[in-house]
Amino acid sequence: MRAWGLGTLAAIGLLAVAGVILRASQGMGAPEGLNLLPDPGDQAVYSLSGYDLTRLPRAEVNRLAKDLTPEERRILLAEHTERAGCGKLLDNKEAGTYVCRLCGLPLFSSDAKFTSGTGWPSFFEPFDPRHIFYVPDKSQGMTRTEIECTRCRSHLGHVFDDGPPPTGLRYCLNSAALRFFAKDEQLPPESQPVDAETAYFAGGCFWGVEYFFNREDGVISTTVGYTGGHTKNPSYREVCSKTTGHAEAMEVVYDPEKTSFEKLARLFFEIHDPTQVNRQGPDVGEQYRSGIFYVNEDQKQVAEKLIKILEDKGFDIATEVTKAGKFWPAEDYHQNYYDVKGSRPYCHGYTKRF
Ligand SMILES: [Zn+2]
Repeated sequence: MRAWGLGTLAAIGLLAVAGVILRASQGMGAPEGLNLLPDPGDQAVYSLSGYDLTRLPRAEVNRLAKDLTPEERRILLAEHTERAGCGKLLDNKEAGTYVCRLCGLPLFSSDAKFTSGTGWPSFFEPFDPRHIFYVPDKSQGMTRTEIECTRCRSHLGHVFDDGPPPTGLRYCLNSAALRFFAKDEQLPPESQPVDAETAYFAGGCFWGVEYFFNREDGVISTTVGYTGGHTKNPSYREVCSKTTGHAEAMEVVYDPEKTSFEKLARLFFEIHDPTQVNRQGPDVGEQYRSGIFYVNEDQKQVAEKLIKILEDKGFDIATEVTKAGKFWPAEDYHQNYYDVKGSRPYCHGYTKRF
């Protein structure tokens, strides 16, 4: 693959950073300098589209592999390639989703399928940039880039740099590595995103709050923004002018199977000083106030319970607990600020309080 092809792969990866920092190590094709979080190991990792990408254990792969035909097994597990022009999905033009034959992770949308004339199903971009794992492949006297399913690491095919716009890439697939679901068909549970929940916290400069939540198990994505005020679509400049009533806040989307609102709320109280009124450390003004914006009664009760625990310990808690209103995402340059810069927060630190 030529250098510009790798550059395009990197660009696709960069798009992935718009909403959330990449949460796992990647193979070839991962943009340099963006894997800023420690290797998550067994920690759950999620894609931008909300799928749990935790790598399947070998035993689970073996269990799923019992359903494969010998041909599928040769391709997915032994990295064979099916004969050109023979795959059952080669000429499929129906609208729908192509998922991993082994684990069900959505890999490609029919919107990205094109006729390449190569004899294999071809796509110009994946369903989600994180759903494909790239591996250098020097077999058969060639230098190629193998593509695997990120979740089960089954062999899918290869990617080449002779595809059409907008990516210039050609993901060359074995039909046998895919299963197709038409648009009106119900996707099975393994092909659906996590049933996620959302919470909103304000604890001073949103850069620092987000830094800590990005490192928490079960967090799918974070977005910093503004809430709690009275103006629509505020800018950072307007919020800093102290005329909007908005607080710097963070929306966190999480997997309730892996964490809970209470666990996240405890973290919130431990990464900022909830006794400070309309300020947080060096940052002064109502935009830096401490607040929990609950989306349901359960969250409200948990927030009040934790505040009571802290008050019983002698803390004079300033955190306001209010019903969540409209959340306005902040400008792009505020998102994942410290991780993009590769620096650490000046404004927040961890203190055990419970
Ligand atoms: Zn898979």
